[in-house]
Amino acid sequence: MKFADEFRDRDKALTLVREIEKLCSQIEVTKHRPLNIMEVCGGHTHSIFRYGLEGMLPAAIELVHGPGCPVCVLPMGRVDDCVAIAEQPGVIFTTFGDAMRVPGSRKSLMQAKADGADVRMVYSPMDALALARKNPDREVVFFGLGFETTMPSTALTVLQAEADGIENFSVFCNHITIVPTIKAILDSPDLHLDGFLGPGHVSMVIGTAPYEFIANFYRRPMVVAGFEPLDVLQSIWMILKQIKEGRAEIENQYTRIVPEAGNDPALAAVAKVYELREFFEWRGLGSIDHSGVRVRDDYARFDAERKFAIPNIKIADPKSCQCGEVLKGVLKPWQCKVFGTLCTPEMPLGALMVSPEGACAAYYQYGGVKRQERPDTVPAAP
Ligand code: SF4
Repeated sequence: MKFADEFRDRDKALTLVREIEKLCSQIEVTKHRPLNIMEVCGGHTHSIFRYGLEGMLPAAIELVHGPGCPVCVLPMGRVDDCVAIAEQPGVIFTTFGDAMRVPGSRKSLMQAKADGADVRMVYSPMDALALARKNPDREVVFFGLGFETTMPSTALTVLQAEADGIENFSVFCNHITIVPTIKAILDSPDLHLDGFLGPGHVSMVIGTAPYEFIANFYRRPMVVAGFEPLDVLQSIWMILKQIKEGRAEIENQYTRIVPEAGNDPALAAVAKVYELREFFEWRGLGSIDHSGVRVRDDYARFDAERKFAIPNIKIADPKSCQCGEVLKGVLKPWQCKVFGTLCTPEMPLGALMVSPEGACAAYYQYGGVKRQERPDTVPAAP
């Protein structure tokens, strides 16, 4: 498979692992504790388990699986809001497939569909807009979900709806932003992180400059990484090299895709259609200031939150669910009390078991249910 095999070469991967081991042995702190490196993006979590990368790395590196899967960080109350909109007469509620199975406090969108609501899976917001054109007597709502990666396509669809004079289309906007999220993680007292694998897809849109505060203020290195095995291993190597040399910088390993300055047309569409919310609720992370966007007043007629009555109630996760701790990297997925028993990809209790990018689903699918825990401290490096 041209353009993919080159990034999956076993011998090159093993060479990189040896270089990573060598660097680890030269970093003083690894004599006392592992280096905690967070992959912010769920796509990296998926690659790490799909290709068995965690098992190849020395015990001196602990990968912490961050909150980068938008389905996983959706609070239960927002799922309930989706169901409430979908159950209103005359509504066609459209969503990406993953989001259909996220449990709400009463039911998921999939269960709402089984109960008679018109919930349809789409591949893009433009598909939802096409449905609105075909069904002028119905209200079509698109579930806008995701970080800056998907934000521009929803914004462009709203602009298209306006240009075409379409009145029966709206967006239930749950788009979230990456920078305040990373800041909240860095400010979290129960987490000590030594570096970040930066999100490849989000960075395609925003570039690398918005992360400078991580290096300048928090003195942590970040390497924006691609998703193939060699991308991930090389990025970990680059982070370790910075730590060994006492540097904290934002580096871009994914230069074949990520422009340092971001994508201007995408950013312009985002700025035109959305404004920052004062705060936004995240599953497991609580409310984070300015971490979500809403549709601007100029486009209010495309905003489902203004078009429909929405319960907007905060719902706590079930007691047995430890998604919050896993999202913050405090617990590994297999340490959750219900992992692999009451919570499986077929019957998810928490959102992290739903999407293939969720840490629990990735562990379940590739990591094995009876995974052995690593020791907290590692032996002294030679
Ligand atoms: S196993 Fe299920 S309930 Fe536990 S953290 Fe994972 S998704 Fe949440």
